[in-house]
Amino acid sequence: MSDEKENNKIIYSFKCPSCQQGIIDIVKNIYNVPDGDKMLILKFECNTCNFHKNDVIPLTTNIEPGIMTLRVINEEDLKSKIYRSPAGKLEIPELELAVEPGPRADFYYTNVEGILYRFESAVLIYRNNLDENDHEKSEIDELLDNLKKAMDGRFKFTLKITDTQGGSYIIPKNKSKYTFKKFEKIELE
Ligand SMILES: [Zn+2]
Repeated sequence: MSDEKENNKIIYSFKCPSCQQGIIDIVKNIYNVPDGDKMLILKFECNTCNFHKNDVIPLTTNIEPGIMTLRVINEEDLKSKIYRSPAGKLEIPELELAVEPGPRADFYYTNVEGILYRFESAVLIYRNNLDENDHEKSEIDELLDNLKKAMDGRFKFTLKITDTQGGSYIIPKNKSKYTFKKFEKIELE
């Protein structure tokens, strides 16, 4: 029962930056994912306005820098969980799609399917900004078609995260499709 006590603990309070009136309590919550993983969820909630934010931080996972890859070949693989830290670069080489690391990249916790949706909406925005006769359009349409197939488990691809600081991870549905290659010190220097 000590787990219960640890949960929903207010760890810090400060004045709301949005309305300047309310108080925001940071509430710490440890969530046990059904497959045995643990996540730390920090909730920021103003008691006056609508300001709120959640941060999800993995607790029981790999923190070593390295390259992790997941082969995605069927619908089950799409349910594999992904956490990309701000230092992680995420790629799908077969589709030439990538999310670069950077300060704008917040914590990013989702599954493979969620990543495909995110890519799809980014590609659609890009397509809508092209000229009617742009020759790039047919290429983009092919990419969108492949993304759709991937979402149905009909397009085989590799999801790769390169993390030079550690913190990103993949929880595969099928462990045999997952590999992790640790960076040796010399590669980082
Ligand atoms: Zn507020």
